[in-house]
Amino acid sequence: MSRTEDAPSAAESISGTPLPSGWAAPAHQPGAFELPHTTFGERAQRTMARPFARQAIAGATDHALELTLERFADVDHEALRDQGRQIRAHAIANLPDYLEQWIGHAEANGTIVHFAADEGEARRIVAGICADEGIARVVKSKSMASEEVSLNSALEGAGIDVVETDLGEFVVQAMGDRPGHVIAPILHRTKDEVHALFSEMAGHDLPNEAEALTAFARAGLRHAFLTADGGITGGNFLVAETGEVLLVTNEGNGRLTSSAPRVHIALVGIEKVIPRRADLAVLLPLLTGHGTGQQITTYVTLTGGPRRADEPDGPEQTHVVLLDAGRSALLGGEFEEALHCIRCGACQNVCPVYRQVGGHAYGWVYGGPIGAVLTPLFRGQAEGGEVAQATTLCGACDDICPVRIPLHDLLRGLRRQRDEEGQTPRGERIAFALWGALWSRPRLYRASTAASRSLLGVLAQADGTVSTRLPGLRRWTSTRDLPLRRLGR
Ligand code: SF4
Repeated sequence: MSRTEDAPSAAESISGTPLPSGWAAPAHQPGAFELPHTTFGERAQRTMARPFARQAIAGATDHALELTLERFADVDHEALRDQGRQIRAHAIANLPDYLEQWIGHAEANGTIVHFAADEGEARRIVAGICADEGIARVVKSKSMASEEVSLNSALEGAGIDVVETDLGEFVVQAMGDRPGHVIAPILHRTKDEVHALFSEMAGHDLPNEAEALTAFARAGLRHAFLTADGGITGGNFLVAETGEVLLVTNEGNGRLTSSAPRVHIALVGIEKVIPRRADLAVLLPLLTGHGTGQQITTYVTLTGGPRRADEPDGPEQTHVVLLDAGRSALLGGEFEEALHCIRCGACQNVCPVYRQVGGHAYGWVYGGPIGAVLTPLFRGQAEGGEVAQATTLCGACDDICPVRIPLHDLLRGLRRQRDEEGQTPRGERIAFALWGALWSRPRLYRASTAASRSLLGVLAQADGTVSTRLPGLRRWTSTRDLPLRRLGR
């Protein structure tokens, strides 16, 4: 059914075109990135000030981690991680060859392949396809690459109606929010918030139950699927030997998005290429097990081009936009391993910083350890370098990563690079230079530790702790006590 055949209702959709009666979305604008206008501290404070958000993040990440550990309890997890690492390292080391192979097979299948060197080009290509094909409404399944290029704003600016179809992404869109986690976009939201939003959209109070809320969203999303001319997806992997794009979802929206509308457009990072279908036997369990704790997601879709003459359904046209946007610059360099990432989100679940501050504190698309790595790499040190400081370097992310990316080595490298580029604040540079000078000389080291013991004695409080109001360190010490007894006094 085309959109013109569908009788418009009075209700307005997220960007203004008709959706079913009783499904009026609030007029929120798409959420904007905060880099570089705010600091990590300011963004983190906002989440910390919402105790419900912190509880929701802690509860959801704990649960995800438990499921992951259970999932791999009976298998040789370490051997599987070794294989995963080997496949990703091999694919990235030979990326140009595998991409060429993928393009050859994809084009032979009838897929139209585009290359976007940067975010602007990606937006122009997708908007151009929509204009050429007369697409007025697109449905979208979850795609972090589309978040990277702010695709929704660009399409809506061009007058195209965009409807996110992953339930979490749909809530994010309707709230004018940003995803807070790679796998679980509304991890930072509570059911009550979703209930309030959907009741506002419905124009009456809905039952505050998961089934009722999902049924409400489903009714509108079905209509959107049937009235959209275009479907936009990301891609979890590109299989070089077949020219296919792999999509995993639990809601089936990826499969519908890529097959129901007459034009399918996939926006996929170039690093997602893998050599063979057989590699999925290793990478899929690693992705789903670390993402959601599942053996496999409910839907696994391999799309291989437009509908063939003997097929009853599928898109008339398939486009794949290969996104570079900073990726190829990492090849062969110190940070190449960041390209091994399969976006499972497990490092976010274990990160003690992410678990307190959530994804928005990182200011751009990705949060947690992988966000602290990718943000400076893709946005540059001047804009994104600060987030690489937001880690404890505890190594928990290295221990969980299914493809063994040495995240904390990358983070240390990025911190060093930031310093070399002169982006470290002056006060921090002076403090560390002084500290280095003192502690690299035994006599000065001993003198400085003796002096700090005396200072702690001066700052001692009656309850046996040290005053937390140390001048120049007020923000750090205002939430911490140093017990004197443990310091041996
Ligand atoms: S860095 Fe590793 S753990 Fe983190 S999202 Fe990527 S693959 Fe998953």
